[in-house]
Amino acid sequence: MPMSTDGFTAETVFNQIIGYTYNDLILLPRYFDFEAGDVELKTRLTKNISMQLPFVSSPMDTVTEERMAIYMALLGGIGILHYNNKIDEQVEMVRKVKRFENGFINEPVVLSPNHRIQDILDIKKKSGFSGIPITEDGTTNTKLIGIVTGRDIDFEKDVNKKLKEVMTTELVTAKVGINLSDANNILKTKKVGKLPIVDNEGKLRALVARTDLLKNRDFPLATKDKNKQLRVGAAVSTREEDKERVEELYKSGVDVLVIDSAQGYNKYQIDALRYIKRKYPDIDVICGNIVTEEQAEGLLKEGADGLRIGMGPGSICTTQETMASGRPQATAVYHTAKVAYNYNVPVIADGGISVIGHIMKALSFGAESVMMGGLLAGTIESPGEYVYKDGMRLKKYRGMASLDAMKEGGAKRYFADNESIKVSQGVSGAVTDRGGLSDFIPYLSQGLKHAFQDVGARCIPELRDFMRSGKLKLQVRSASSIKEGGVHDLYLADKTFL
Ligand code: IMP
Repeated sequence: MPMSTDGFTAETVFNQIIGYTYNDLILLPRYFDFEAGDVELKTRLTKNISMQLPFVSSPMDTVTEERMAIYMALLGGIGILHYNNKIDEQVEMVRKVKRFENGFINEPVVLSPNHRIQDILDIKKKSGFSGIPITEDGTTNTKLIGIVTGRDIDFEKDVNKKLKEVMTTELVTAKVGINLSDANNILKTKKVGKLPIVDNEGKLRALVARTDLLKNRDFPLATKDKNKQLRVGAAVSTREEDKERVEELYKSGVDVLVIDSAQGYNKYQIDALRYIKRKYPDIDVICGNIVTEEQAEGLLKEGADGLRIGMGPGSICTTQETMASGRPQATAVYHTAKVAYNYNVPVIADGGISVIGHIMKALSFGAESVMMGGLLAGTIESPGEYVYKDGMRLKKYRGMASLDAMKEGGAKRYFADNESIKVSQGVSGAVTDRGGLSDFIPYLSQGLKHAFQDVGARCIPELRDFMRSGKLKLQVRSASSIKEGGVHDLYLADKTFL
C-alpha cells in the first residue's frame, strides 16, 4: 500500500476492505492565496448541461414540484420533478417551470364582466390578491377588457354588483416580449398597480404586479436553456407504461430525464436508456442509482449522460438494512466517479447530504454535483404545509419507498408496484423549517466556497485534479476524533450550524 506520513491519497483510502461515509473522513488543508469569493462553483449536471452551482433537488413527492424546480433553477442549480403523479400532472409542472419568467405572473386569475364583487372578495380571501383582469368570457382565451382593483370596489356596499359596472376599462398594458425592467418602469411612471401583458390579439398573456417590484431580484446564476427558459429535469420509471410519460415530458420541453431506480444496473434500466436515446437523441439521460465501478461501466457503455450515485445513504432510507446491499457513500462516489471520468460523464452524489462539509467531501471524491432531499424538504419551496410540533416548525418528509409514498406510486422505483405485499425501504417523518431557498442556497454556496479555499482549490475541476493527482490528502477519523470535530464539553451550545 503506498504510504505517506502526512495524509493519504484518495486512491489509498478508498481501496481498502472498509467502506467510508462522509463523516469517516477529513480533508487535509492546503495553502491558498485567494479569497473565498474568488472560488467558482460552475459545474456539470450531465454531459451537456452545465450549472453555476452543484445543487440538485431530489425527485421526491415531498421535495420537488414546480416551485422547488423554479427556485432551484433560478438560484443556479436544478430540480428533478418526481413521478408520484399522473403523467399530465408531471407534464404541467414541467410546463410551469419552462414558462416561468421572473417577475411575470404567467397564469393570472381572471374573471368575466358578469362575475360579481363577491367573487373578487373570495379570491382576495383565498389568495391575498385583489387586482383581477377581466376578459370577455372569464378565461385567457378571450380579449382583455378591463381590470378590477381594490380602488374600484373599496366603497361598494353591494357585493352582488356585476364587475362590468365597476371595472376600469382605460387600461395601461404592454406587449408580450417586454422585459422585466421596462415593465417595471411602466408600473412606476404610470403609477398603476398591475400591468397586463397582452398579445397582438389583445389576449392576456401575463401580469406584472407593483407589489412584486421590490421583490423582483435578479438571478444571475439561473440555469437556463438556449431559449433563456429555466431548465428542469423529471424522473421516469423503467416501466413499459412510462414510455408515454417520456413522450409527453419530451413534448413539454423537459431538459433532462432521470431514470429512477433504487438499484439502477439492470435490464429494465438499460432497455429504457436505449429506448430514450434512440427515440429522443437530443435529451440527456441520467441513470442510477448505482454504487460500484461495474455498474458505472455498464451504464456508461450504453450512453448514460450522467450517473446518480447512492444506495442507502438517504436520510429516510432503510435500504441497506432491509435489502443488505448498498455502499458507504464516500467510497461509492469515489469509485463510480473514477470510471465516469474516463467517459467524461459527471456523477451526482445522491443522498446523505446534511451539512456543507458533506457537499465538499462529495465534490472532493469526484462528484460534480450533489442531490439533496432532506436538506431541502424543510424549505418554503417544497410541497406541503408547515406543521408545529413541540414548538418546532416542521414539514413532512418521506422516502419514496415508505409505505405511504409507495401507495401513491413511488413503488415503481423499487420494482414493487405490482406486488401485493409491500416491503418498505424508507420511512416517513418530518424535517425542520429552513426558510426560503433564496437565502438557503446562497448560504450553502458561500459555505462551500470557504471549504474550497481551505484546500486551496479555486473551482470544481481543480479540486478533482487535486484528488486524482494525489495532491489532496485525506485522513480517516477515529470515533473520538469525530467527537472532537463536533461541538463538545459545553454546558450549553447553540447548534445552528450546517
Ligand atoms: P437525503 O438527501 O439524505 O434525504 O436523501 C435523498 C435521496 O434518498 C433521494 O434522492 C433518493 O435517492 C433516496 N431515497 C428517496 N426515497 C427513498 C426511500 O424511501 N428509501 C431509500 N432511499 C430513498
